[in-house]
Amino acid sequence: MKKYMDLWIEDIIGEEKLSRQHLEAYQWSKIKETFNRAVTCSPFYAELYKDVVLESPDDFHRLPFTTPEDVCEHSLDMVCVPQGKISRIVTMETSGTTGKPKRIFFTEEDQQLTVDFFHHGMKFIADETDVFMILMPCSTPGSIGVLLREALEKSGVKVIPYGLSDGQDTADILKIMERENVTSCVAMPQQLMQIAKASDGYNIRMRSVLLSADYVSEESRNVISEAWGCKIFEHYGMTEMGLGCAVHCSELDGCPIRENDLYLEIIDPETGEILPDGEEGEIVFTTLTRKGMPFIRYRTGDWSSIIKEPCKCGSVLKRLTRVGDRKMKKGGYHG
Ligand SMILES: [Zn+2]
Repeated sequence: MKKYMDLWIEDIIGEEKLSRQHLEAYQWSKIKETFNRAVTCSPFYAELYKDVVLESPDDFHRLPFTTPEDVCEHSLDMVCVPQGKISRIVTMETSGTTGKPKRIFFTEEDQQLTVDFFHHGMKFIADETDVFMILMPCSTPGSIGVLLREALEKSGVKVIPYGLSDGQDTADILKIMERENVTSCVAMPQQLMQIAKASDGYNIRMRSVLLSADYVSEESRNVISEAWGCKIFEHYGMTEMGLGCAVHCSELDGCPIRENDLYLEIIDPETGEILPDGEEGEIVFTTLTRKGMPFIRYRTGDWSSIIKEPCKCGSVLKRLTRVGDRKMKKGGYHG
């Protein structure tokens, strides 16, 4: 069983064989680095953590959380590099009371971290024998489809960038899938379900699909797998995480987390207490390697748990169960 993510992280950390102990020591050194940069370079973090001395993981686990409201109010003050170093800004409308959008800033280096994660995480899904169709935004530089394309082409995968379906183009998409012999694709769950439903009469040879960018319903999984008999992988991530956080491995049993770039905690949303592995709660994350706009103990509003048992593939990485909305406490991955 290939452990692509473990091999990748071993390489980065410089360990012969990845262990939890080494990984956690690496994470702690990166947490301190991130914290020190944040309080030195960002007025927002300097103010939020002005009386904090960070000497131990316990100190870290007592830090106040950050929230989407903080991003709406203070996004520029969370940036830790000169403006000239910013190569992409993502603006997201929010339903928050202030009406201000969330703005997330990335450097070129930050974006390459995501490409790197996609490059290794996608090895479970497609290889050089595949033709991969991207049914996600892929025209704007730095968009998920563009980064994914770069990652897949590094592995020799033939990529067909299409973009999001508008709902009227199902037949066009199916014709392309048939004509180009598409064997793998990424799409939003609902959209791919509509395409799969309409695929009778087309010769589709789909081997694997990746569902991302929204909660995955059982219905969409069932419709797609019945129509095409393909493997269904799920991905979870959000823009703040640098788009990617966790993606199914070959076992399709929980999504291993990119723990070299992200430190995750599961908390009780009422008390803020950190919950042990196996218990469900809100996902809180800290970026370990981001330069442009680091996040520290950021509350996602997403609901999941960490699977206690190690994965059958032998990976040491922690895995997330299906992710849902905090208020729904159910659902599927979104990314
Ligand atoms: Zn695994």
